[in-house]
Amino acid sequence: MNELDHFLEAADQPERYGAGIKAGGTPVLGYLCSYAPEEIIHAAGVHPLRLFGTLESTLHADSHLQAYCCSLARGVLETALDGTLEFLDGAVFPHTCDTIQRLSDIWRLNTPFDFFADVVHPVRLDAGFAREYLEDTLQRFKRELEAWSGSKIDDAALARSIETFNTARKRLDDLYRMRSRDPGCISGSRVSSIVKASMILNRDELPGRLSRLLEEIESGRYRTGATDDRKRLLVAGSLCDHPDFYSMVENLGGVVVWDDLCTGSRAFDGFIDPSGDPVKAIARRYFERRPCPSKHLSNTARAEALASMAEEHGVQGIIFFLLKFCDPHAFDYPYLKEYLEAKNIPVTLIEVEDSLPPEGQLTTRLETFIYTL
Ligand code: SF4
Ligand code: SF4
Repeated sequence: MNELDHFLEAADQPERYGAGIKAGGTPVLGYLCSYAPEEIIHAAGVHPLRLFGTLESTLHADSHLQAYCCSLARGVLETALDGTLEFLDGAVFPHTCDTIQRLSDIWRLNTPFDFFADVVHPVRLDAGFAREYLEDTLQRFKRELEAWSGSKIDDAALARSIETFNTARKRLDDLYRMRSRDPGCISGSRVSSIVKASMILNRDELPGRLSRLLEEIESGRYRTGATDDRKRLLVAGSLCDHPDFYSMVENLGGVVVWDDLCTGSRAFDGFIDPSGDPVKAIARRYFERRPCPSKHLSNTARAEALASMAEEHGVQGIIFFLLKFCDPHAFDYPYLKEYLEAKNIPVTLIEVEDSLPPEGQLTTRLETFIYTL
């Protein structure tokens, strides 16, 4: 099996992979947001598994959630209630958007898992004491994990985890930059599956796997035949678990050369300083990485970040790919659109629920947008 197949298989069947890790004797904790401190979970000898939910019917979850919850929250709760996640030892809920905060209570009261933790991040990253507050929050989470696992998480273990995550994030950044320079080196749908798999695979093996994968890509074996005249696009939003979307864009003469997704570049953005106090360093990354709209850094931080990514990667248009009922992203969209269009960066909005809009409708909208660029 080549390296790419490992990534594609894990992305295709995350629960099967998580169950395999658990069967091998490693406890598994789920999380559904990139603000979960994976490094601390990993340093405790526990496997952090990002949860993506299901695209199937959500009958169990529907009896607990209001109709206006996003499909991510609904799908993840469904997999907890229908037994798909029975191998999990617990879950970690960073308090970010309102939906995740409410889901956390429902999860705690209705699921049978052993471990549960809320990690209450500050909303205003620019507030005085926000850094000290987050450091305290992460220390408290570390103590909760230690009490549950029965073993101390020492600084040496945290330093090893930081090194592992820094290396893996750097390799993912290398992959994105390689594709931005040469979009035909591998398809967008495969890149999206690789990033997804990086939140599922054994993290100790991940840096090595990514290095071998980069060599495979450099050897030219995954070339798509895409030509340089494709319209260069950036996708922004929360998560995009639809590899078909990237193929559709490519079939219409575009190519996604970068993204601002929490299942994309926001998952690997930011470096953790390996010197000094490890928990403080982990906290610092949350202030230095690009914020998602559930955080406030400044009135224009997200718009400036998008404009700068667009400039750096020669982006000709931005597709906002938003989940229905995702308030943080929906509230940001009008001002981002205005800001970016004033800078001559065209934008379009695609709203999805659990599945993509009907193919004909989506194709027409994407085709029109790409044609106008
Ligand atoms: S968009 Fe932000 S709050 Fe929402 S799931 Fe992603 S990282 Fe978490
Ligand atoms: S940020 Fe949006 S997509 Fe993510 S959990 Fe909250 S409402 Fe859902």
